[in-house]
Amino acid sequence: MSENAVFPGDKIASIEEYEAGYNTFDDGDMVIASTVGEKDLNKTERIVNIKHPKVLSIPKPGDIIVGTVAAVMSSMIAVSIDYINGEPTTSKVECVCGTRNLRIRNVALVNDIVALKIISHLNGTIHAAINEPELGILFTKCRKCGNKVVSMRDAIKCTECSWIDERKLSTNFGKSNFVKLRE
Ligand SMILES: [Zn+2]
Repeated sequence: MSENAVFPGDKIASIEEYEAGYNTFDDGDMVIASTVGEKDLNKTERIVNIKHPKVLSIPKPGDIIVGTVAAVMSSMIAVSIDYINGEPTTSKVECVCGTRNLRIRNVALVNDIVALKIISHLNGTIHAAINEPELGILFTKCRKCGNKVVSMRDAIKCTECSWIDERKLSTNFGKSNFVKLRE
């Protein structure tokens, strides 16, 4: 931690010297930090701001993540993590998930929303699994026309062009409102 590190409730400056800026408030006497971060005393404008650190959230083995498929390769998918155990994360950490043993033609498409379980950290890469019933695709689209699909047993069917395709669907497919993650 640098010498500029502050914690919520820390008194940073007198309000006679500085005005409260971002992530601070004044109690009528002192400017006080309202978040963890680094203080930034702007001497020209006489304002104190707290720069919020970019919290890097790294999921642990056993965590359930929900993310957006960033890349699809022949034997694995790369997923940009949006939620760890239901908590949103903005650090955009990626994990990879092997798909070779699934024997499904199109396990996932880029931009699909998928639930995975973290299994290990290996050589700086986070590895995840998809082979449990609740794990898999939560949201996908038709590969041909990009329209809405519905599940039919293990397959999916496009409501627009009737294209039938395969995915590794989660048992939660179609139940959740994860569409909002795409906006
Ligand atoms: Zn279609």
